[in-house]
Amino acid sequence: MSPRKKSKLQIDLVIPVYNEVEAVAKTYADIRQVVDSLPHDFRFIYVDDGSSDGTADTLRGILDNDQRVTVLTLSRNFGHQAALTAGMDAAQGDIMISLDADGQHPPAMIPKMIELIQHGYDIVQGQRIEDRRGASFKKLTSNFFYWLINRISGTQVMPGAADFRALSRDALNGIRSMQEYHRFLRGMISWMGYNSVILPYHEPERVAGRSKYSLGKMFRLASDAIFSFSLAPLYIGLSAGLLFFILACGQLTWVLYLWTTGNTESLEPGWSSLMGVLLIASGIVMILLGFIGVYVGYIFQEVKRRPIYLVKGKTPDDGN
Ligand code: UDP
Ligand code: MG
Repeated sequence: MSPRKKSKLQIDLVIPVYNEVEAVAKTYADIRQVVDSLPHDFRFIYVDDGSSDGTADTLRGILDNDQRVTVLTLSRNFGHQAALTAGMDAAQGDIMISLDADGQHPPAMIPKMIELIQHGYDIVQGQRIEDRRGASFKKLTSNFFYWLINRISGTQVMPGAADFRALSRDALNGIRSMQEYHRFLRGMISWMGYNSVILPYHEPERVAGRSKYSLGKMFRLASDAIFSFSLAPLYIGLSAGLLFFILACGQLTWVLYLWTTGNTESLEPGWSSLMGVLLIASGIVMILLGFIGVYVGYIFQEVKRRPIYLVKGKTPDDGN
């Protein structure tokens, strides 16, 4: 690991925004406060992920007063991971730092992130550390999700890993070469390797507004993570099939034994046991068919090679 010598770096801040009209001006001011005291060249790349609440106007106001700001407007709401991808594709500097527009990724960590990249790391991964006690629905489901993904996937994803990270030019090029449609960036980053370091931070409350991750979006992210990083669900099928095969062999041997010893009168046709086995077996078959269906669906979407996002406009328009 060799330190990066350049003292004045070009740094792109990638900030996805979706309906953050109440938060975006405040978080922009907070970020400025940190970066304006640093000796580097910063560029703010805001990705407007199809906002419909006036965020676009606020962003225009910010842009008019700061030449370092670029706003990419996506043609509709593509989701956080796609918006981050759009911003990373537009980044051209030596370092890319992604952070949310709601103040939950404290800009005060930015100098430390830059320092670590300068030290020679390629990935500085922000890790949310839990400081509030108690169990919220989000916390419980998130803990369960990380437990599951780390059990069934070959790629380890650290609990609390956030999309708050800094990437060197090399790591950014690496992630840009991964053009898959279903994206779980935390897993993709971990899959890449490189010299990475974890930077823990305390997550503040949102500065305003409500979470833009609906239950549906959370579920989609979890399913993208599981089905694109693990084949374990398919192996459940194999194991269940094997179990039923062994049971069937046992039953066949038993019946054969009764026939050969002439004890067929004890072969009472049992409705409940038959029904039970039938229901269990068909239930398992249906679940497994569902899993296979999901994988086929994912493959179908990947082979279509649709773009991950579409850009409606870029201001200022530099022709790229
Ligand atoms: N976001 C986005 N597109 C979406 C949902 C969210 O660009 O479809 C942005 C959002 O504006 C914020 C970041 O992604 O800057 C993280 O979202 P949020 O804070 O709602 O997620 P949470 O912190 O609740 O997990
Ligand atoms: Mg948030």
